[in-house]
Amino acid sequence: MKNTFRLILGIVATAFLVATPHAQTATAVQSRTRTHVETLASDKFEGRLTGSPGEKLAGDYIISELKRIGAKPLPGMTDFRIPFTFTAGSKDGGTTVTVTKDAGGAQTFTGATTVQALSFSDTAEATGRVVFAGYGLVVPEAQNFGYDSYAGLEVKDKIVVVLRYFPEDADQKTRAILARYADLRYKAQAARQRGAKGMLVITGPRSPNAGAVVPMSFDTAIAGSGIVAASVGSDAFAPIIAASGKSLEEVQKEFDSGNPHVAGFAIPGIMVTLKANVIRQQQTGNNVVAYLPATTPTTGINKPWVAVGAHYDHLGRGTTGGSLAGQDEKNAIHHGADDNASGTATALAVAEAFGKQARKRNLLIAFWSGEELGLLGSNAFVTKPPFPLETMAAYLNFDMVGRVADNKLTVQATGTSAMWPKLLEQANVAAGFDLVLQEDPYQPTDVGSFNIASVACLTFFTGAHQEYHKPSDTAEKINYEDLVRVGELASGVVKRLMDSPDAPLFTKVEQKTETGGRAGLRLFTGTIPDYASDVKGLLLGGVIGGGPAEQAGLTKGDVVIEIAGQSITNIYDYTFALELLKIGQPAKVVFMRGGERKETTLTPAARK
Ligand SMILES: [Zn+2]
Repeated sequence: MKNTFRLILGIVATAFLVATPHAQTATAVQSRTRTHVETLASDKFEGRLTGSPGEKLAGDYIISELKRIGAKPLPGMTDFRIPFTFTAGSKDGGTTVTVTKDAGGAQTFTGATTVQALSFSDTAEATGRVVFAGYGLVVPEAQNFGYDSYAGLEVKDKIVVVLRYFPEDADQKTRAILARYADLRYKAQAARQRGAKGMLVITGPRSPNAGAVVPMSFDTAIAGSGIVAASVGSDAFAPIIAASGKSLEEVQKEFDSGNPHVAGFAIPGIMVTLKANVIRQQQTGNNVVAYLPATTPTTGINKPWVAVGAHYDHLGRGTTGGSLAGQDEKNAIHHGADDNASGTATALAVAEAFGKQARKRNLLIAFWSGEELGLLGSNAFVTKPPFPLETMAAYLNFDMVGRVADNKLTVQATGTSAMWPKLLEQANVAAGFDLVLQEDPYQPTDVGSFNIASVACLTFFTGAHQEYHKPSDTAEKINYEDLVRVGELASGVVKRLMDSPDAPLFTKVEQKTETGGRAGLRLFTGTIPDYASDVKGLLLGGVIGGGPAEQAGLTKGDVVIEIAGQSITNIYDYTFALELLKIGQPAKVVFMRGGERKETTLTPAARK
């Protein structure tokens, strides 16, 4: 599962082994499932990073299993692998900023702590007059809130200078709106749309990380964003702000009020040349896709494909982002037994269950790569599908299904078809899970790609845990008995889809809020939400040691119901409320512990 909010995880799974009556076959399936997980999560596969030798080995293993089951490459193909290209990393190849005074004299700045290209910048050169555009924020009119940093400013062919983040002193409501548009990629897009040639970002003295350049973040886009953009530190910015005759502190203070009528201004007497150099390393990842053809002709069958899938990539040694390894585990293999050897094993188990059965539909069996880097593989598949997606009846996804605890299984994306709740209930009669149904299909896993492509879909999930995205997500922590039952439940769902002449009708679920609050980019609370929870409020799966939440006395099992005066009923409310918090400013937190209402004060810290 991809880590979008960087907030993370939940419950510690307790694996109970219970004796079952149909012991013989159950044991056989269980031992095969265990072999899949142990193999994929072994040191030999080195954490299965997309495009790495470990990904290749994992792909080989999956292909040999698919052949054993009797699955074939897709119609018209001879290979099980379907490659896709992506950016595996980017670094600054020596970006420079030159400030030339009209009166004569020029200064050039370079070096990682002085000027650094933004990861999405074009590699190109731009020269122009300079316009200071405040925080560079533009809020779409649809928000019924007027804020446009470019109102009254002429920036065509200019170099725009903007402050990082959003106004520091604005009221909570204003901050909540502005925070959503404060991502630097969004700011760059706004500048480019207004004709600016380049954008420079400075972190103001009144903000966290004051005067520091923005670290080059991991960006998987293959091409630049159509604008030259870099962040500059205080040194490189000094001659630019000096030309305006003002101090940056004063200037920022005015914008920090959040008053939309504080205007930007042109900086006279200088030209700035920005030469950005971003080195993008291209790599190839591989989806592994196969199918079991229908055993009877599919003519007349409405939507003749049913699909099951799971991502088989993981974080390698955790060097490309997403890792939550502690300092002491740096560069260790991230085994990804639950994330997502468990889902891979389950998709194989479902395929195996159908290998010898009569099938009225084709069963597509897909193993995605690049999920941890941003759903790259599944996105490549739905963007260029090998057959029309309108012929796909449904897609079932498995991501982190190896930690069933207390018989609880979460099924997400159930809002994508009215048919799902009843169908799941029927299939669950035999499986007997305590199902938690969640309608929302906007999940940080491959199901998101299929929802966007209007395919009725489901994703199975047993909750995040202490080992999430750490090297310690290892095979012996998996609850194999219940993992096999997840496969049985899914097979029950697939069986019903196979046998019915009808296919689920897709329903579009409105996105409640933008996932991954922008505030996560600047602020650290050290809370670890339990994503699989259905309690009213935010159930904490844990707190990060030494973080603000721990210091506030919060602990695993607490349910946060109010923060900074905002009531919290779910994770969306929580990410929204985070945007209202200020670094270093204590906020009241109301929470439930053991049925008792309690209060504490949490002081958010700055995220680097
Ligand atoms: Zn993951």
